[in-house]
Amino acid sequence: MATVSPAPVGSAPLLEHQRRGRERGRVLVLNATFEPINVCTVRRAVVLLLKDKAEVIEHAEWDLHSATLTIQRPMVIRLVTYVRIPRDTHRRKITRRAVFARDGWACQYCGSRSSLTVDHVIPKSKGGQSSWDNIVASCAPCNRRKGDALPRQVGMRLLRKPRTPSPHVFIHVASPTIPAAWQQYLAA
Ligand SMILES: [Zn+2]
Repeated sequence: MATVSPAPVGSAPLLEHQRRGRERGRVLVLNATFEPINVCTVRRAVVLLLKDKAEVIEHAEWDLHSATLTIQRPMVIRLVTYVRIPRDTHRRKITRRAVFARDGWACQYCGSRSSLTVDHVIPKSKGGQSSWDNIVASCAPCNRRKGDALPRQVGMRLLRKPRTPSPHVFIHVASPTIPAAWQQYLAA
């Protein structure tokens, strides 16, 4: 998110209105197929637009200004070229927030929603990987009960099999507040 491509020649940094609150600086990125794949900064979106790598699907009612350019603030953009998602999602970082969001903020052993921790299903000490299919949300009591054992060794069962989350999960993690302009693209 922090990386910004070099700005095209002649475009000064774009300044946004300050009064837009928390949605400021976030743009929903759709694949060429209109499938939502990511969230990026306004600056990154503008670079993609100016390079003709993306088109505007939804924009705000207000403009971005630079010394040489005025454009409507993009809210949703669509990549012109299809991006393969499976490869992309695999690279996505495993964070506590993303694990909890994927698991519906519920312990994957008992369903509790309080004192969530992250658990390696196959413990690291037994060769378990830090991968999406081996990490789940677990409440602290379940995590303690499981200890350094495999779930079945202590009579515990996962509510569902963990897997790599859909791009929707990362979009919600990156932008806890979903702007209204995004909603129809995230509904599917
Ligand atoms: Zn639990």
